Amino acid sequence: MQLYNKLSAKERENLLEQAGEERLTLSFYQYAKIGNPHLFRNHLFIAWDQMEVLGRIYVAHEGINAQLSVPAKRFNEFKEFLDGINFLKDVRLNIAIEHDLKSFLKLKVKVRHKIVADGLNDDTFDVTNKGIHVDALKFNELIEDPDVVLVDMRNHYESEIGHFKNAITPDVDTFRDSLDIIEKDLKDHKEDKKLVMYCTGGIRCEKASAYYKHKGFKNVFQLEGGIIEYARQVENLGLENKFIGKNFVFDHRRGERITEDVISHCHQCGEPCDTHTNCANQACHLLFIQCESCEVKMENCCSDECIEIIHLPEEEQKRLRQGIPNSNKIFKKGRSEKLKFKN
Ligand SMILES: [Zn+2]
Ligand SMILES: [Zn+2]
Repeated sequence: MQLYNKLSAKERENLLEQAGEERLTLSFYQYAKIGNPHLFRNHLFIAWDQMEVLGRIYVAHEGINAQLSVPAKRFNEFKEFLDGINFLKDVRLNIAIEHDLKSFLKLKVKVRHKIVADGLNDDTFDVTNKGIHVDALKFNELIEDPDVVLVDMRNHYESEIGHFKNAITPDVDTFRDSLDIIEKDLKDHKEDKKLVMYCTGGIRCEKASAYYKHKGFKNVFQLEGGIIEYARQVENLGLENKFIGKNFVFDHRRGERITEDVISHCHQCGEPCDTHTNCANQACHLLFIQCESCEVKMENCCSDECIEIIHLPEEEQKRLRQGIPNSNKIFKKGRSEKLKFKN
């Protein structure tokens, strides 16, 4: 169950009643200028530790990105605390009731250079000067406009299994790369086109929209709350759904089905499939799409080489792994010349 932030008193009451003694898991982010992230971090830690909050929170000069869980009975206290911080008042919260309490075991609040690893070195633009936020209804209208350029700000392995109809889906491995590609493609249309962006939960577009405004784009829009929130609004309000396929997510599910369309293919046999997996060889761990029959045939591996390795004794595998940087996780997601059907 997913809930929206601007919870009315009634909605909040229902939510808490339903949760009982359970915990609520929630996530939120906000770009804001934080002068002293260390001080802010300590402030959060002291207050949240006392409220029995668990989770992983990043704080930086540019803002906060939080995934956490709160005992349901302390949610009101938690919400009041957020509302007491000027840039977190009424921040959009994605909330779910968590029956499996293993999602977070500790409270970790870390100071980072950035709240999202975006590869940008540009401290000259204001990340809080963002594009116009649109909800699902407005988004649906907007993307029918012939002057709109709709851009998927996610990476290739995400848009491969699902995206909005007619969206540009850059074939990129990183956010940084897509920023450059889009800017180059649209350099002559900074004023006459409307740039509309979306991503999984909104955080990347927030940064991208500020970046493009800084680069001279005049009409910049972003889908508020990303695909996650869009799907929720489409369902709750009975709107037309213009997204096809699955929304790639970064937890164990790897994808949330939005429509029954399967728009991608097994990277090993080419059959329609949109299930991501990681290669069973620890040293490889390649993220790729694998159908059920290939999973059996290939023992959940990406290649014959990896099958050989997983059959070695664990000690031998460990020895082979030594000194090999695990770069697949970062740079080679979903790319390998061994995958015949990865376009
Ligand atoms: Zn297959
Ligand atoms: Zn492999």
